[in-house]
Amino acid sequence: MNSKILLDNLRCIPDWPVKGVNFRDVTTLFKSSEALQEITDEMYELYKDRGITKIVGIESRGFVMSSALALRLGAGIVLCRKPGKLPCETVQESYAKEYGIDTIEIHKDAINENDVILLHDDLLATGGTMRAACSLVKKFNPKKVYCNFIIELEKEFPECRSTFDEDIEISSLL
Ligand code: 5GP
Repeated sequence: MNSKILLDNLRCIPDWPVKGVNFRDVTTLFKSSEALQEITDEMYELYKDRGITKIVGIESRGFVMSSALALRLGAGIVLCRKPGKLPCETVQESYAKEYGIDTIEIHKDAINENDVILLHDDLLATGGTMRAACSLVKKFNPKKVYCNFIIELEKEFPECRSTFDEDIEISSLL
């Protein structure tokens, strides 16, 4: 894996959106054709033999690589969105954030029991968002659930992976 291309193209914004947060800006990865190709290639290598049938992209930065990878893998894409954005009947999951409760949802007919699901988001921090997405996807009883991120803040949140169900396989590129 060529982490250098990714690290060279990742922009970090100190004290954004609030003081004390060092925000990893993945838009600078996405605008670089080399970095975008590298991310797609790495993800393809990780998942090409897993029988993935659908990639669930987490709103909104998770949509970008979900699309690119789904095209490479020959998989479908499912959008996991905030409430009120999906037009048909949905299944929801709520989770606690630092300030208040957040909810995410997926169309009720988006996943079935024959699916092998790869959940993708740009970044793993506390894991709250992805844990909720995993719980939501498991309500559909798919055959298997994988999780992938471009960036994992392992140093800031070292216990994060241990908070996920053991049957969920997690990977990140950085
Ligand atoms: P968690 O739920 O794991 O605490 O936070 C991850 C979610 O917040 C992801 O959906 C991610 O997009 C967003 N997020 C949190 N911090 C950052 C960051 O530094 N950079 C980016 N790009 N997204 C972040």
